[in-house]
Amino acid sequence: MIDRIKDYIKNNTESRVLVDELMKNHTTYGIGGPVDLFVLPSNKEDLIKVFEISKKYNQEVNVVGSGSNLLVSDNGIRGVVICIKNCLNNLDVEDNKIYAECGVMLGKLVKHSIKNNLKGLENLIGVPGTLGGALIMNAGAWGGEISNCLESVELIDPDKNKVIKLSKSEIDFSYRSSSFKNGSILLSALFHMDYSDKKIIEDSSKIAQFGRKDTQPLKYRSAGSVFKNPSKENPAGMLIDKAGLKGLTIGGAQISEKHANFFINKENAKANDMLMLIKKAKNMVKEKFDVDMNLEVKLMGFEEGEIDSL
Ligand SMILES: Cc1cc2nc3c(=O)[nH]c(=O)nc-3n(C[C@H](O)[C@H](O)[C@H](O)COP(=O)(O)OP(=O)(O)OC[C@H]3O[C@@H](n4cnc5c(N)ncnc54)[C@H](O)[C@@H]3O)c2cc1C
Repeated sequence: MIDRIKDYIKNNTESRVLVDELMKNHTTYGIGGPVDLFVLPSNKEDLIKVFEISKKYNQEVNVVGSGSNLLVSDNGIRGVVICIKNCLNNLDVEDNKIYAECGVMLGKLVKHSIKNNLKGLENLIGVPGTLGGALIMNAGAWGGEISNCLESVELIDPDKNKVIKLSKSEIDFSYRSSSFKNGSILLSALFHMDYSDKKIIEDSSKIAQFGRKDTQPLKYRSAGSVFKNPSKENPAGMLIDKAGLKGLTIGGAQISEKHANFFINKENAKANDMLMLIKKAKNMVKEKFDVDMNLEVKLMGFEEGEIDSL
């Protein structure tokens, strides 16, 4: 079956298709086993064809951006993974509106908004990832969130199998969460922003940029914060630190000494090492403080039994 899909994609699109590609090459953790078919579509039409053929043959489809919020199993992922980083890269600024496709890197979108004196996205400077990943996660930093000045999103609806447009009012965004249906593929977004003084925008982005460097272990591979903060008073990093877990190492994975909600790939870590650290932190925090911590990082390719306590 996978061979048939591969042949169809090769014969009918200009996409790149890789068989048994290691996901560790596509995640910021540098972790993850082989995926049956890893597809890099060359444009939107190709992406839609890849989605349709995968569905026709009942293959599970997963979408990834730049893998900066992903922990992928050492056993990899069955079915098709569509990677939209390096495709869907158009970005247009017209007056105070920005149209961007979902493969655009967030950093590029933020820089364009600042350059055009548009306010609202500057605090996201330094957040890695694509626009698609940022919208799914409702990425945020230093008080700003990607959904703040969003007007609409274009996506493939997995139930209707067609491209639709949702206005912001039809999407629920909350802290690191959005209400897009599972299996949606986000294609592009439109932002409606306010003009402001460039100096004010730049000052605000500098505060975010320097804060990030001071507090995060940026010289190691990570996926940013592992858990969502249970509340403002109880940030996950503080709870994990108070549980005495800073520096805890399992295999090649470590709970960062610098920021306890960042788990780092210290040395050739396996997904399983990271998963054990995650379970340990969740259980210890529950035991010591009776607080439930929910994952911010997305898991892919794991068996249900491996992750049902998370
Ligand atoms: C050093 C570091 C610092 C970080 N700091 C922050 C921070 O300050 N704030 C913050 O919010 N996050 C932060 N993150 C996490 C991460 O950068 C964000 O979650 C980012 O938005 C993920 O984008 P991505 O393209 O890498 O998505 P991926 O990791 O590839 O995917 C994330 C999720 O989105 C889905 N997805 C991706 N693209 C699409 C698409 N086009 N259509 C449908 N689904 C899609 C995936 O299936 C997956 O469920 C940090 C990460 C790192 C490594």
